[in-house]
Amino acid sequence: MRLKINEYNDTIFEWIPYNQFNEIKEMNNDSFFTIYSAKWKNGQLFYSFSKVEYIRHTNKFVTLKRLYNSQNINDFFNEVKKYSIDGSSNNILKIYGITQNSDTKDYILVLNFEDFEKYCAKCNKLYTDTRFNWCKPCQIEYLEQNFINWTSGNKEIDNFIQGMQLKVNGYSSDTIFEWISYNQFDNIKGMDKNDLNITNLAIWKDGSLCFDYQNKKWSRVMGKEVALKYFYNNSQNIIDELLNEVKKYSIKNSRDTISIHGISQNTDTKDYILVLQNGYCTGCGEKYSDVTNNWCKPCQLNNLFTNWTSGNEKIDEFIQKMQLKIDKPSDIIFEWIPYNKFNDIKEISKDGFTTEYLAIWEDGPLYYDCNRKEYARDLTTDKKVALKCLDISQNITDKILNKAIKEYSIRDDDDTLIMYGISQNLSTNNYIIVLHDRYFEKNFEGYYCIRCANIYTDAQYKWCLPCKIDYLKQNFTNWTSKNVRIDNFIQGMQLKISKSNDIVFEWIPYNQFEEIKEIGKGGFAIVYSAIWKDGPLHYNWNKYTREPNQKVALKCLNNSQDISDEFLNEVQNYSTEKYSNNILKIYGITQNPDTKDYIMVLEYADGGKFYDYWIDNGKHKNFNWHNKIRTLNNIIKGLKEIHQKQMIWDCVEKLVI
Ligand SMILES: [Zn+2]
Ligand SMILES: [Zn+2]
Ligand SMILES: [Zn+2]
Repeated sequence: MRLKINEYNDTIFEWIPYNQFNEIKEMNNDSFFTIYSAKWKNGQLFYSFSKVEYIRHTNKFVTLKRLYNSQNINDFFNEVKKYSIDGSSNNILKIYGITQNSDTKDYILVLNFEDFEKYCAKCNKLYTDTRFNWCKPCQIEYLEQNFINWTSGNKEIDNFIQGMQLKVNGYSSDTIFEWISYNQFDNIKGMDKNDLNITNLAIWKDGSLCFDYQNKKWSRVMGKEVALKYFYNNSQNIIDELLNEVKKYSIKNSRDTISIHGISQNTDTKDYILVLQNGYCTGCGEKYSDVTNNWCKPCQLNNLFTNWTSGNEKIDEFIQKMQLKIDKPSDIIFEWIPYNKFNDIKEISKDGFTTEYLAIWEDGPLYYDCNRKEYARDLTTDKKVALKCLDISQNITDKILNKAIKEYSIRDDDDTLIMYGISQNLSTNNYIIVLHDRYFEKNFEGYYCIRCANIYTDAQYKWCLPCKIDYLKQNFTNWTSKNVRIDNFIQGMQLKISKSNDIVFEWIPYNQFEEIKEIGKGGFAIVYSAIWKDGPLHYNWNKYTREPNQKVALKCLNNSQDISDEFLNEVQNYSTEKYSNNILKIYGITQNPDTKDYIMVLEYADGGKFYDYWIDNGKHKNFNWHNKIRTLNNIIKGLKEIHQKQMIWDCVEKLVI
């Protein structure tokens, strides 16, 4: 294999001693092989341009494929040849070499790890569709091999079905067209009120064949409801006509057509049967308007218009007309919404013609539940809506209404804002258009906080200072340092927050810190590095998140068991701004439970910023060369008491350069 190398990026195929592999873990197996992941100590050879030579990626993850009975060396070599060393092509999985289990003497292939999942385990080729582990050649082969397991008893039909199966083009919701034996059907019952050819609904015991991409195998959806359409025909060319009838259906699942699963034959009457998706409305027996979602437009329209009135005939008529516009299950049913269904109504803006409010709609809009085949409301979440009140609209006309709703839509498929219906303010009798709360984003570009209806403090990041302060205040009861003075101090620090990216100064329990190591000791303090498990809070695109396992510095002033003004003053000299390059950042205060010392939790710094732990309470806003030299002098003076000399020298070196 080595002699095959043509290009710099080709793999150097190697014999790799088995003791080169660590952390061997079984991943999966089948009747021919077992797959393991492992770490290859020395790692694969590759060509480095910068070094102009071959070097190794040490501790590289690899896949090991152990073939059963691989002592037969010819079979093994045939298997090896199925993989690729070609660095310029990704069609076939890469092989690095071979090894041999020292105990079992089984030969083992050493394969690429990172991309292993993207290749078909059967043929080693890149999946046709890597998202769904779909290998077209192997799936076609599977179907072809299965041809011998079924027959309709008619050559022409068999050929047709085989042809349909081989059309399968990828993992999708396409149906695999099949010959389905009649004894597969259970619970056959007649359907009323529908076109004469559809006679029965039935349960298909085994159900249709689907590729289960997670388990990378074919499986069946047991107990599937299907429609059986009898094909009555006495002509000479019955088979041709049957197949022509079949061709009128598609194997593709779509909203507006009924797909076909296959052909069957009644064993007694010998009549052929088209086995179709059950896309027929249980109400009227007609094909659903939306087959995928079991939604029948005529039946749903019949079920509307009950149980409500606005008290105004014109408005009722207008709403009914709007309701008739639904055309899809996802369309909004435009409604009359009683005003008492709105809570937390907050005025947001007002001009001469309209007043806009943000409100909670108790019930929320109707949505179509396609399993229960009816409209329902999601009562579990509060639905925020925008109320657009048409001032002085007690005497409303169709013309005004049409104008008022002109920009909005009952359909969520374009750029227009969704509207839910009409309401009426009970005290002013003004009519209200109920809209999606994105109304405020659209009209004010996220100008208003959805929670409190105030203008955002930071509109770009949708950050609202009053809401944040509210939240912090409410949270005061959820933590304590067990020292009133410290608690008050931290609360005060928290309420100083003014920008979305400010650090939320915190009381941090000492058990949040791991790997605590002394990194420097001075006359007044000891500094440790530590890993803060949960990490600091950051405001990131509309929400606060923590950055876990952050390295921080813990600065412990000597004898700080009693909290002193000196300690609290020093805390205030550090910065709580996220983007402060000159001053070390401070995250909060903690306390060592053993020594009872209070400790500042600071940004971790090495190199040039390291000495900030020691000087001038962290302040060096106007740091200049004069200060640097003065600091250097201080540091050199203090060196005697500093244990970690090397670290300071590193720092000195950086300062001087
Ligand atoms: Zn394959
Ligand atoms: Zn219907
Ligand atoms: Zn707010």
